[in-house]
Amino acid sequence: MRKTILVTGGGGFIGSHLCERLLLDGNDVICLDNFFTGSKDNIRHLLSHEGFELVRHDICFPYYAEVDAIYNLACPASPVHYQYNPVHTTKTCVMGSINMLGLAKRRRVPILQASTSEIYGDPVVHPQPESYWGNVNCIGRRSCYDEGKRCAETLFFDYRRQNNVKIKVVRIFNTYGPRMLPNDGRVVSNFIVQALRGEDITLYGTGEQTRSFCFISDLVEALVRMMNTGDDITGPINLGNPVEFTIRQLAELVIAMTDSKSRIVYHPLPDDDPAKRKPDISRAGEILNWQPAVQLREGLVPTIAYFRSKLGV
Ligand code: NAD
Ligand code: UDP
Repeated sequence: MRKTILVTGGGGFIGSHLCERLLLDGNDVICLDNFFTGSKDNIRHLLSHEGFELVRHDICFPYYAEVDAIYNLACPASPVHYQYNPVHTTKTCVMGSINMLGLAKRRRVPILQASTSEIYGDPVVHPQPESYWGNVNCIGRRSCYDEGKRCAETLFFDYRRQNNVKIKVVRIFNTYGPRMLPNDGRVVSNFIVQALRGEDITLYGTGEQTRSFCFISDLVEALVRMMNTGDDITGPINLGNPVEFTIRQLAELVIAMTDSKSRIVYHPLPDDDPAKRKPDISRAGEILNWQPAVQLREGLVPTIAYFRSKLGV
């Protein structure tokens, strides 16, 4: 059945790929974005689609529309951007979630929250299962995002308990692919841009910290599967690729794949930078029958091609 689906943050990296997929599936899409980190370039090709509607709006303020489902993705995701105006980041997570949950409650429609592996903080349990409560500094520079997203999860579960809202909470681990911002400071985009420009590759700390990288198409598939589960499935569910790399390994891989002459230089590790991160995705396997199909080396090919064309190098 053709549905009208609201995607907040639809002009961003993940949101724009999700809008594309939902249109392909035959839905109408309302893409809502304040364009803080998103860009019209990400969705320009969708503007002429008859099922696509673009709304410039900040979710910190209420929004009403007759929608059948809501994906709540609006929030800056890279440390550089979410720390730029930390109060607004917390407002987006908390007030934004209240506004979108209010809409879901009134419409009695499912709402999916893009939560994050950051809610585990600097984890002492490895890999991280959903049952782990995390290790988060509540007063540090990352807290606006980590605690904002934690509070958003609290709100989702309280709206479920209090108002029976159909919630779907997913905890997304590091995801990469075309349409990441060249300047958003995240490691995959930073390294590729630096390698393509022949600039120094900035490795923070020793480079021994780990992350697990999920390609965008795998993530979008999981988001759609999660939304299509029955009302009893609330999550939280981890979504990510469980293959773990050190950040130094990533730097070396990017240098090799771009045939770059860049050298690695060392910078101080940012405050509260998690030492390890790897999702336990057994719950996603059981409930969504999902696991990532694209390995890092494979996903870097279109990502590097995207940045080559974006940078004109
Ligand atoms: P992104 O910055 O590319 O996209 C976020 C979008 O939200 C942007 O288009 C931005 O303009 C918009 N936005 C920000 N604040 C807003 C507000 N107050 N009102 C309306 N729009 C607003 O980031 P992304 O990587 O696409 O992340 C999307 C979501 O997924 C975020 O909620 C993020 O926390 C979550 N997430 C992403 C990752 C990842 O690795 N990419 C990992 C964990 C969680
Ligand atoms: N990082 C790095 N160099 C960069 C950008 C990031 O070494 O130019 C490191 C960062 O310190 C972290 C990891 O790469 O350990 C992932 O950083 P990112 O900002 O992409 O995401 P995070 O998982 O920390 O939110």
